[in-house]
Amino acid sequence: MTIVLASNNAGKIKEIQELLDEHEILSLEDIGFLDEIVEDGDTFLDNALIKAKTVSNFLKEKGLNYPVLADDSGLCVPSLGGKPGIYSARYAGDHDAAASRKKLISRLQNQNDRSAYFICQVIYYQGDDYKSFEGRTYGTILEEEKGSNGFGYDSIFLSDDLHKSFGESSDEEKNKVSHRGRAIQKFVDFIKEK
Ligand code: IMP
Repeated sequence: MTIVLASNNAGKIKEIQELLDEHEILSLEDIGFLDEIVEDGDTFLDNALIKAKTVSNFLKEKGLNYPVLADDSGLCVPSLGGKPGIYSARYAGDHDAAASRKKLISRLQNQNDRSAYFICQVIYYQGDDYKSFEGRTYGTILEEEKGSNGFGYDSIFLSDDLHKSFGESSDEEKNKVSHRGRAIQKFVDFIKEK
């Protein structure tokens, strides 16, 4: 099956393609979608739906009827009231991951509770109907970066499952326990049951 992934993030596309290896995954670039999608929802679910609907409408205008997979994800730190949350990509300036990691480490100085979790909301949008799938992965925020794999907050997230940071983990190790891996796994189970 051909599925359009509402993303151009190379790390994400690679991760999702590895998890859905029997399917053809097309990116926004592949379908010629060049607009920026304004994610102004209040929740991960709202933002994932905004992306899915926008891309689905674009495909319909072209007479294409591919299902769309959209996700929205982020890092939540309970001791900071859930921040950075839906603002994860712009916590310290627009899409400046290094600055966001630095800001988070500094906000957690002298904080005993350094627990955190990544959350991923996946939407499978087909026709005008959709299904949502949520995945979470738990860990703690490190005082300094460890490892250089991955993207975003990976190098400061010590995974409860892997006992090392996501930055020190291979893609394969991370995919098995990640928020996105778990949400996509739920989606894969759903698709197989259909
Ligand atoms: P998006 O809106 O789903 O693309 O993700 C928002 C932001 O959450 C990203 O820019 C990252 O800062 C953060 N994020 C989401 N998933 C991950 C992950 O697997 N590792 C590290 N950071 C992540």
